[in-house]
Amino acid sequence: MAYLQFLGAAGTVTGSKHLINTHHSDDGKHGLQVLIDCGLFQGPKEWRERNWQDTPVPAREIDAVILTHAHLDHCGWIPRLVKEGFQGPIYATQPTIDLCSVVLPDSGHLQEEEARFHNQKRSSKHDPALPLYTLQEAEDCLKLFEPVPFAEKKQISPELAFRFVHAGHILGSSMIELFLTLNSDVDGDGPSRGGRSDGARNPSPQSGAANGNTRKFLFTGDIGRVPLRPTTPGRVVRSGPDPNEDPELLVMESTYGNREHPHDDVRPHLARIITGTVKRGGSVVVPAFAVERTQKFLFLIKELMESGDIPRVPVFTDSPMAIKAVEIFMKYADEFTDEARALVAKHGSPLAWPGFHFAPKQEDSKKINDNRYPCIIVSSSGMVTGGRILHHLLLRLPDPRNQVLFIGFQAPGTRGEIIKSGAKSVRIFSQEVPIRAHVAALEQFSDHADTTELLSWLGTFKKRPRSTFLVHGEPQAASRLQQAISSGLGWKVDIARWLEKVPLG
Ligand SMILES: [Zn+2]
Repeated sequence: MAYLQFLGAAGTVTGSKHLINTHHSDDGKHGLQVLIDCGLFQGPKEWRERNWQDTPVPAREIDAVILTHAHLDHCGWIPRLVKEGFQGPIYATQPTIDLCSVVLPDSGHLQEEEARFHNQKRSSKHDPALPLYTLQEAEDCLKLFEPVPFAEKKQISPELAFRFVHAGHILGSSMIELFLTLNSDVDGDGPSRGGRSDGARNPSPQSGAANGNTRKFLFTGDIGRVPLRPTTPGRVVRSGPDPNEDPELLVMESTYGNREHPHDDVRPHLARIITGTVKRGGSVVVPAFAVERTQKFLFLIKELMESGDIPRVPVFTDSPMAIKAVEIFMKYADEFTDEARALVAKHGSPLAWPGFHFAPKQEDSKKINDNRYPCIIVSSSGMVTGGRILHHLLLRLPDPRNQVLFIGFQAPGTRGEIIKSGAKSVRIFSQEVPIRAHVAALEQFSDHADTTELLSWLGTFKKRPRSTFLVHGEPQAASRLQQAISSGLGWKVDIARWLEKVPLG
């Protein structure tokens, strides 16, 4: 019996990991074992502790990983999997591999920093505290990556093949169409709800396999904004997942299953905020994730400057990882929107734009603080949990002429969320820093489709899947999306549970 098992992103938005076993029998024999994504659990401790647990099947027995995109909650556990004995190929698109070569070593570095911090403060129950993996271990695992182009069908064993299709979420992001051929598939049972590993529930029989004995499954990974209008302004890479799908079983994200983003053009809002700040002699400080969000922001700023909608003030990007990511973006202009491509054709790489400064070294970063005239500073981390953004905010938060602009999600409990919530002060480097600067947030920058957009995409399906499982959502979001799909489209939808197994035939 082939099965799918949810090893992460079930009941939460992190730790994406779905195991496919192409044949499993009671005597313990198994077929090909493949992981779809291999993400890090992030957020509350209860979830993070799962990063230290072994996978239900030994890592060395997993044959391959197929990766949707380069966000840590989808790829950040790969170095640990390798450390535990995995030696197979990791299939991904080339842009995803390039981004992983920046993101994974940085994650290893942060793991080491965290362990060092706990050892200095003696704040861990473990003595000594160890990193989940090191920078070196993250770099070592990069040799296992194998590029697979979009739309090319890759046969990884006689019974299993897959194809990457566009997810339109971040650069290189893909959904995975998985094709499973079962030799023993004579009765034509379709995928159906199974039970937890601790007590299987009866599969409900369904008839007829999709293509003879080959079944098609779709794993969405994260789904990008779905254009509801002909143009979606302000994006660098192409927007939206590929339409017209027809899987038998769908495993779909539900991050914003209960949220609507503003659907209007972000540019007028951005122009008003920046122009207002410059007029009062202040600077704009933008905490931003280094990969994708920073690049998107820079492209928009350039566009607004060129159209004369904002004054030409210096723009400082203070994040070494963001600079490396800009270089990677420039390699993939074919994935850009028409607007972004035209901008680059006319003005070249952001790294060479006049008035745009990049500060890869610490001393360059400090020099930005000498700027007393209006400027725009983009720095990370995006939720102000660490990094160089702390220095910029420490200096500029107390001045009412300045502006803090959030363009990303701020998780509860982070400094970013404290500042965004209207607090009078925030603690940075053991100091209580008064917040007198203006604070604004623009939600249009999200890289995830909202509920209306998800339903709009599902509406393009050529046929309804027999089974749909929602993953990658907080319980409330998944439950709202389940209701919306059931009532809007009449589909049978289940919410995936952690370690749940779904028989596949
Ligand atoms: Zn993502």
